Amino acid sequence: MTCLAIPISAGGVTAACGRIDSAAAAGAELLELRTDYLKELGTESVKKLLEYAKSTGLPIIVTCRDKAQGGAGDRPLELRTGILLEAIKAGADFVDCEYENFLAGDTQRKLTKAIAENKKTRLILSAHDFTGPFADLTKLYDDIKAASSQAIPKLVYTPGHINDCFEAFDLLHNTTGDVIVLCMGRAGLISRILAKKLGGFLTFASLDEGSSTAPGQITAEQMKKLYRWDYIDTETELFGVIGNPVAHSLSPALFNACFGERDINGLYLPLLVEGQKSRFNQFMDNIIARSWLGFGGFSVTIPHKAHALDYANAAGEFVEPLAVDIGVVNTLKVGIGPRISGYNTDYAGARDALCAALKIDKHGLHSKTCAVMGAGGAARAVVAGLVDVGAEVTVYNRTVAKAQALSEEFKCRYAPLEALNQMDAQVVINCTSIGMYPDVDATPVPAECLKADMTVFDTVYNPAETLLLKQAAKAGAKTISGIEMFVRQAMAQYKLFIGTDTGEPPEKIMRKTILSCLSQENGV
Ligand code: NAP
Repeated sequence: MTCLAIPISAGGVTAACGRIDSAAAAGAELLELRTDYLKELGTESVKKLLEYAKSTGLPIIVTCRDKAQGGAGDRPLELRTGILLEAIKAGADFVDCEYENFLAGDTQRKLTKAIAENKKTRLILSAHDFTGPFADLTKLYDDIKAASSQAIPKLVYTPGHINDCFEAFDLLHNTTGDVIVLCMGRAGLISRILAKKLGGFLTFASLDEGSSTAPGQITAEQMKKLYRWDYIDTETELFGVIGNPVAHSLSPALFNACFGERDINGLYLPLLVEGQKSRFNQFMDNIIARSWLGFGGFSVTIPHKAHALDYANAAGEFVEPLAVDIGVVNTLKVGIGPRISGYNTDYAGARDALCAALKIDKHGLHSKTCAVMGAGGAARAVVAGLVDVGAEVTVYNRTVAKAQALSEEFKCRYAPLEALNQMDAQVVINCTSIGMYPDVDATPVPAECLKADMTVFDTVYNPAETLLLKQAAKAGAKTISGIEMFVRQAMAQYKLFIGTDTGEPPEKIMRKTILSCLSQENGV
């Protein structure tokens, strides 16, 4: 069982006791008393703190971290060792000593003797690298086990890239017995969450945003509510969004809420893949080489959508033909083998949103006159989906050459944005970023161009009701929010990832989650 450990870091005993209560209430499964944070560090204060922490009934680690390995104060080794010896005597479940310091002076002799006399306590021997990965992670693990076969090795390093996390996963996968392997920083985030699936002894999560004790530590609340901590086990199927940036993606909240609603043993992660195609390919190769990680599929976003298409083409199971025409995939499904299939759910999401609002099926779009503003990625998907069913499309774009190129590719018309006041369209679709938060007072279409017999669709989903949609509603037009497209492309992804054995995708929970995330993001 992997424990969710909350570090207690406070300058005084009273404040630390308050944080112990809060950590227990927040669902801590283990407490780490970071005594190095105490301003007046001494054996008496540590004993008091330990007694208080023991009253929670939770297992306790006592740590007095060396400043050289991320500790809060610059204390001599003798004092730090003395604190650990006192903690052992006072019945701490675990004491954490840096492996390097364990080997220094007579620390090893003293700690080994104290633990032999107080068998309740186990030793954690830790190593931290705040600058990069260890030179040889497996050797370090072996060295620690050789120094103390009973100790729990704790190896924490800083990956330069998410691809550096895989050696941590390999170590967790290949070792039996208790071990802690975590990666710090934003590239290491997934290692903190996956510790439970991979059987690590513990992971750390902070009590609140301001009290993390290492880079990249997320809060216990995020771990439990957003990343489904209580439901992760060795069988949990993994999914995630590959992109850069991904920190603000709504997809983890959306899919994890769906898994909760449907009681599905799944977990959806933000997968920050920095760099370009070679980094993306390495990431995918790492995943494919480790079927035991249990990844079932990925959403793919900027800048990797075209890389994903190439990867799916090369890994060759199936690539949706329209995704090939569009030139990007936003969904990869991991099949048996494992082989990879590629899909584009953006065009289907946009088309489904339009059809639902007009109460028609996709063939009902045949011959409809559509004005599409924009010639970027979203416009490509929308135009491809519309032309595919025979709609009459005109592309309007600020950079006319891009509109021309898009229209030549998909056999439709084009015009500059300025020509919008002469447009004669039944359906108007904004695929530019104009009007997106925080520029909520901007609109791509002059209000006087909007007519009551139009259907106006804004793919921008933040805010849910853009100025364009407000003005269209005022003109009496039918309006469609970008949220509809977002939800419908996510529903299509959900079907690819999960299938429909457990029912149709939970649309209501998707909508509710997106609206709640957007209102938090915009401080509404
Ligand atoms: P993109 O590839 O960067 O394209 C941006 C487009 O917006 C280009 O056509 C660009 O014109 C135009 N543009 C940007 N700023 C402009 C300005 N100030 N004046 C005139 N034109 C401007 O971006 P994308 O991926 O297509 O995304 C565009 C929007 O679609 C985003 O805002 C996003 O909210 C929305 N979207 C929604 C969903 C959904 O599920 N609802 C999915 C994908 C995207 P130039 O060519 O002249 O630069």
